[in-house]
Amino acid sequence: MIITRKKPFETIEESIKSFKKVFIVGCGTCSTVCQTGGEAQVKEVAEIIGEKCAGYTVVESPCDARILRRDLMPKKAEVDSADAVLALCCGAGAQSAADFTGKIVVPGLDTLFIGKIERIGTFYERCRACTDCVLLDTGGICPYARCAKGLLNGPCGGQVDGKCEVGGYTRDCAWVLAYRALDRHGRLDVFMKYRPPRDRSKTPQEITGRK
Ligand code: SF4
Ligand code: SF4
Repeated sequence: MIITRKKPFETIEESIKSFKKVFIVGCGTCSTVCQTGGEAQVKEVAEIIGEKCAGYTVVESPCDARILRRDLMPKKAEVDSADAVLALCCGAGAQSAADFTGKIVVPGLDTLFIGKIERIGTFYERCRACTDCVLLDTGGICPYARCAKGLLNGPCGGQVDGKCEVGGYTRDCAWVLAYRALDRHGRLDVFMKYRPPRDRSKTPQEITGRK
């Protein structure tokens, strides 16, 4: 799930002050679960901005251009009357809304990471979309998202009793977690293997062949 956080309302207010009308797009998937861009949050912002609001809708999943089109078409007149779209969704959804409407997009949320939901309001970063997943070699622990230094070969010298020096030994060292997981699975030979640096010569766009 894409984890988002609301921008302070003063920031949004400042961003939309030069527009006469804005149309608000929420997200019925990730941002609804994060309680940052679901129906309640969209209505709350619509109420606060009052007459500046040209209309609003919660798109089932705005990052999916097909669904965005489907959900925005019935709102065409309201969207057309707006100078800008206020996106209460992740950066992908916001760009999808900008592409489709041709309007200036105002991000109402900050996109934080790809995460696991423990419970509402408690999210853990679990993936940084590195394009070359190494979980098989790390006991299912993402070294990019969970090691404070993003090391592919750990643990580093900052590990003490399974805790990471970054942040003052409050969080588990990812590489100790990886060691324990591989040990449980009888795969410590994998732990000892050298993992070469990630090949950053290609961007995700080049890998997928899409813009
Ligand atoms: S290694 Fe980590 S960042 Fe890369 S794809 Fe796997 S989970 Fe995501
Ligand atoms: S102590 Fe562990 S989690 Fe922290 S930076 Fe070193 S290897 Fe990474």
